[in-house]
Amino acid sequence: MRDTQKHQGLRNKLVTLLEEKGITDKTVLEAIRKIPRHNFMESSFEDFAYQDKAFPIAAGQTISQPYTVAFQSQLLEVKKDDKILEIGTGSGYQCAVLCLMGAKVFSIERQNELFKKTSLLLPKLNIRPKRLIFGDGYKGLPEEAPFDSIIVTAGAPFIPEPLMAQLKVGGRLVIPLGDKEQIMTLLIRKNETQFEKHEFGEFRFVPLLEDKN
Ligand code: SAH
Repeated sequence: MRDTQKHQGLRNKLVTLLEEKGITDKTVLEAIRKIPRHNFMESSFEDFAYQDKAFPIAAGQTISQPYTVAFQSQLLEVKKDDKILEIGTGSGYQCAVLCLMGAKVFSIERQNELFKKTSLLLPKLNIRPKRLIFGDGYKGLPEEAPFDSIIVTAGAPFIPEPLMAQLKVGGRLVIPLGDKEQIMTLLIRKNETQFEKHEFGEFRFVPLLEDKN
């Protein structure tokens, strides 16, 4: 897949913009500097790939804005070999960022069309998550639990209980909560029963829907 010097130049500019917007985690910024985001979008949108904007992908879904991807990734405080569950594979871009940060990524998508498309795309880019799953993220992935962290990339009306249950003690769950607009929420698991909650302002996501499609 084509990745030119022009693309690299645009990515460097995007990284500078993300730094100006307050992203400080070097592993996040270096992953974004390396990943050819234009390959995750329809070719007609390729020229827009390095603007800090969300864009339409297949099945009426969107690839998240780079700032949102960076912000969520930073909140996870990823360490090498962390086992991470992503809900909402979509284009696979967020998944790719986590893979390049050294995480072992499991990612669930409820739209079969996107699941298939992304399953073909990532190996072509030499990006290898542990597993992509066609399923309902509300249920998490009990057979692979517990996870060091869990990231939800669609707007959730509430925190699905299975996701809290599948988090390690000390683990982090990043989830945008709300209907029309979402509050970025971080839960840190303190022990078997207690979670500490932090909130980080408004974001906009497509909705987290139940069951497969
Ligand atoms: N992380 C993606 C963002 C895609 S938008 C990216 O980087 O491109 C959110 C995605 O969540 C959509 O693809 C949508 O189909 C998916 N989704 C919505 N509800 C879901 C659910 N219950 N389980 C799994 N995926 C879901």
